[in-house]
Amino acid sequence: MNANQTLASPFVDFKEVKASVSILQVLEHYSLIDTLKQTGDRLSGPCPLHNGNNPTAFRVSISKNCFNCFGRCGRGGNVIDFVALKEGVDFRDAALLLQDWFMGGDASVPAREPAPAHRVREERSRTVYPPAPTQPETPTPAETEQEDEATENPPLTFELTTLKTDHPYLEMRGLDAETIEHFGLGYCSRGILRGHIAIPIHNRDAKLVAYAGRWPGEPPHGTPKYKLPKGFRKSLEVFNLHRAFQEPEDVPLVVVEGFFDCFALWQAGITKCVALMGCSISPEQEKLIAAAMPNGGTIELLFDNDEAGHHGTEEIAARLLQFALVRSIELPEGVRQPDELSEDEIAEVFE
Ligand SMILES: [Zn+2]
Repeated sequence: MNANQTLASPFVDFKEVKASVSILQVLEHYSLIDTLKQTGDRLSGPCPLHNGNNPTAFRVSISKNCFNCFGRCGRGGNVIDFVALKEGVDFRDAALLLQDWFMGGDASVPAREPAPAHRVREERSRTVYPPAPTQPETPTPAETEQEDEATENPPLTFELTTLKTDHPYLEMRGLDAETIEHFGLGYCSRGILRGHIAIPIHNRDAKLVAYAGRWPGEPPHGTPKYKLPKGFRKSLEVFNLHRAFQEPEDVPLVVVEGFFDCFALWQAGITKCVALMGCSISPEQEKLIAAAMPNGGTIELLFDNDEAGHHGTEEIAARLLQFALVRSIELPEGVRQPDELSEDEIAEVFE
């Protein structure tokens, strides 16, 4: 989710930073490459953001230029997000750091060569990474249980009942009252999600398993945009799947990256829509979608529109093609993510 980019100052071109700096360069900068194992387009290893021990929790897609943690912290995003989390700075400062490290310090200088990611990828394809070193420390029992053995997110035993549904942030994101009510969204003024927009997440059986908290706007220094409960594994859920499959079987299932893409599509009448809550698909998410489509059908992928994004859909498409027809839908030029489109534009994209 990168809506905050609309608040960009003229001095940092976030899009250009994302297109110019590869995730491999960033991982190398932090000397993390050796902790990761490469399989094709993907790297995996213990998560350097929450310092976990699970050797596959942290996954990187080289072509999509993004990362995701399927372990405790559940963080994910692009190169700028990674640096922001690693340095504890905001998105803008992280972009400035990347500019400084890899782009000669001045983003107004045109990128000398497009997409260094390509060059790095070519070099990488000749390099076979050694297997990740054996873990020097045994994971604590708590960690093992949390990251390796949890096969489901237990249903919550409470529900947030006092959410404020008319928060200006929801309006700013273009959501109307019906959409807000449908998805049960609202501003939370107490508890751990205090100060966040609460987004209820249900499992496939429609049981409430978590609330994600979205900071309403540009988060303060060091605060992530999304807060997920400790121990919650987003890799085990597909957002909105329980509602999508109440829709007719012959209607295509639209798969998007983020919550707000899902909200925007629903509001525009594309109601059979689910979100992966990240830029990659976990084996569990793949299984959930497959199980929900026993007779096959059509899946439409609508992912963020950046250079890496076009490559990234390919991997997910290949995996979903095993059990469904897959169509990749392109956003109009200049539009970064589906939730930036008006309802009319969304309808046009799906025509
Ligand atoms: Zn993590």
